[in-house]
Amino acid sequence: MKQAKDIKNLKKPEKKVRSQTRRLQELSFQDTESLIRELEAHRDELEKHNEELQRLQKELEDSRNKYSDLYDFAPIGYFTFDGNGLILDVNLTGAGLLGIKKQFLINRPFETFIEASDKDIFRAHRLDVLLKQTRQTCEIRLKCKDGKIFYAQLQSLPVKDPEGNLSCLRTALSDITKLMDTEESVRQSEEYFRLVTENSMDIITILEKDGTMRYESPSVERTLGFQREELTGANVFEFVHPDDKEEAMKIFSQAIENPGLSLSLEVRFKHKDGSWRILEVMGKNLLDNPAVAGIVVNSRDINKRKQSQEDLMQLAEELKRSNTDLQQFAYAASHDLQEPLRVVAGFVKLLGKRYKDKLDTKAEEFIDNAISGVKRMEILIKDLLAYSQIGTKGNAFKLTDCSFTLGNALANLQAAIEENKAEVTYDRLPTLMADATQLGSLFQNLISNAIKFRGNKKPKVHVSACLKENEWVFSVQDNGIGIDPKDAERIFIIFQRLHSREEYSGTGIGLAVCKRIVERHGGRIWVESQPGRGSTFYFTLINTAGLNQGP
Ligand code: ADP
Repeated sequence: MKQAKDIKNLKKPEKKVRSQTRRLQELSFQDTESLIRELEAHRDELEKHNEELQRLQKELEDSRNKYSDLYDFAPIGYFTFDGNGLILDVNLTGAGLLGIKKQFLINRPFETFIEASDKDIFRAHRLDVLLKQTRQTCEIRLKCKDGKIFYAQLQSLPVKDPEGNLSCLRTALSDITKLMDTEESVRQSEEYFRLVTENSMDIITILEKDGTMRYESPSVERTLGFQREELTGANVFEFVHPDDKEEAMKIFSQAIENPGLSLSLEVRFKHKDGSWRILEVMGKNLLDNPAVAGIVVNSRDINKRKQSQEDLMQLAEELKRSNTDLQQFAYAASHDLQEPLRVVAGFVKLLGKRYKDKLDTKAEEFIDNAISGVKRMEILIKDLLAYSQIGTKGNAFKLTDCSFTLGNALANLQAAIEENKAEVTYDRLPTLMADATQLGSLFQNLISNAIKFRGNKKPKVHVSACLKENEWVFSVQDNGIGIDPKDAERIFIIFQRLHSREEYSGTGIGLAVCKRIVERHGGRIWVESQPGRGSTFYFTLINTAGLNQGP
């Protein structure tokens, strides 16, 4: 205002000079001279005023530039709209937000840049400003020139002309996409946890301090048949089996007394159909946590698991019973078979003796075959008997010096060792808790096999043991025919042999006996071998802590 007044004052001497020039034309020469002087004085004054005018004009321009910079480069967009939403003016930021040069925006409808579904919001916003004549805010999605969409917040004020009529709208526009992104990620995270909770197979419950159910996840319907609304607000203990209630309440009150404490229990919970479901319950007291302010409980229906556990135990029991029956049967059968076999053997021998001279050579050959068959049968029955007795007729474990037991086994094998000129060596073996008789059979079976399944070379057998962690690993190594690794497991199954009786004698029971003995002692047995390269049989025995005095 001050600047405008100053300019008005400056224009006054200009007027004065014009009127004096007019007067000059009407005057005499003397007067003219004095007037010229006067005029010169005014010219000086005029020049001074002129300079002042220029200075003020510059000041005005500077100030206008300053405000236009502020307007153009403000961090938010400024728009001036007419009543129909036509863009009358826009600052550079506003134009930049839409990605269009300012001159191409003027007089264009702003709606061109609004997402189709948000156009009505802008119309309603304009109407609101015009009717209510106060500042109004709305949020809409705008499309940039490059097709990118952003969320914009519009704050508009009505502008009146000097006559007091509404002339246009001044709108501040800011990009709130980032702000919305944050809100969106919070929303997504909430949605994520809601989906996790609602789709969990477990029932998720939030309990109040007194056991009132505040929240139940939808899986409650699947597991317990109740609608969520039927449980919400009720006390959880009303649904607990009377026999489990006391224990459940005790654990619950412990959790209440100790914020942050986790609780876990198994409890029978009422199903809507009246039956009881076993639930595995885990909970945490989060009463102190303002985000939850409750006890969060996770419950899982373990009815099926319990049932299959019981089924499994029942099966194991049945298996044990049928195993014992089988053992008893094998024992009785082999024991009872010995008697008629002895009768057959006796009579065949008698036949041979009594009719020695009356029979031809063919008949004698038959009698010899019958006798060797009976002998094989005797061995088979003896082995079977030994096998069936391992579990039932085993001796109690006692401190056993394995070197001494090995010595006994070698004494029993003396004939075979000498016959094959076998060389048996051994390291010092430990003393441990075992059934010495069975351990002796174990050594005997393995060493006799090592000699029996010899190759062309002189049989060499070495027995050793080393302590690995909490068990002794024994080994019986030979230089015999070896075993194909594909047969390494099946040779421990009863009656499984890799050779015919003509090639190597035997019943196929020896290694099955070894396996049962080792397992009765809590160990494992296996073989490592390659055909033609000898075999090493390993077995483990538990190191009875403090009792062994190893090598
Ligand atoms: P048997 O010795 O009466 O045949 P086993 O149960 O003791 O029965 O052994 C089963 C089979 O394992 C044998 O027939 C043989 O083929 C193989 N076997 C056992 N020990 C050895 C060994 N030390 N070397 C090679 N093969 C062996």
